[in-house]
Amino acid sequence: MDDYFVVKRRLSATQYIDCHSHQPDLSGVFRIRSLDFKEFASQNVFPEFYSVGVHPWYIDNHSEQQLQSLNNNPQLLAIGECGLDKSIALPLAEQITVFEQHIQLAADWHKPLIIHCVRAYNELMAIKLSHSTANAWLIHGCNCSFQQLQQLLAAGFYCSFGSSLLNPKSKPAQYLKDLPIDRWLLETDAQAEIGIDQIYSCAARILGWELDALHQQMIKNFERILIND
Ligand SMILES: [Zn+2]
Repeated sequence: MDDYFVVKRRLSATQYIDCHSHQPDLSGVFRIRSLDFKEFASQNVFPEFYSVGVHPWYIDNHSEQQLQSLNNNPQLLAIGECGLDKSIALPLAEQITVFEQHIQLAADWHKPLIIHCVRAYNELMAIKLSHSTANAWLIHGCNCSFQQLQQLLAAGFYCSFGSSLLNPKSKPAQYLKDLPIDRWLLETDAQAEIGIDQIYSCAARILGWELDALHQQMIKNFERILIND
């Protein structure tokens, strides 16, 4: 846990927490930069904090070898994004094989998993139930139905929401206020034009909370989900 001292110190001094972003570091934002393996391998200067994985869109014959070549270090806060995507041509069985490798790595290193899931929530649930890992499984950009999400939360998943909250008609915008407050985080993902401050303001408005209260809650959630688990 000593490794997390730096993280904790940074958290208390930071206003916004962006738990999953593909954008470069930004002052005033505590960001977990998501790097796909190839992007990771080509970095000269590493982001302050990051996650690494093989996104299902980029799985190839080298994925297993790439994962095995990773080294653990304190800046690596999570494994991923990785997961399952039924909107792509790659057979789900092949995606599951690579996803299982991420699950193993995350368990070995006691790191949370950041999960990409498109139309494969039932399969994801079945995989989670077949593992008894203590590390957090965070579904990022979660966009499933309220009923499905309740089942996922009951199975121990956490989730994060981003730009979908800005659309009042989206499912997350409609059910955010009905979710347990300690089970989710906020993110910008790949949307360069949307700031995490906008996402926070929107979430605070949906909840009917002051922004300060949301900041305090997000720090607590981050520590619980990404550090203490
Ligand atoms: Zn992403």
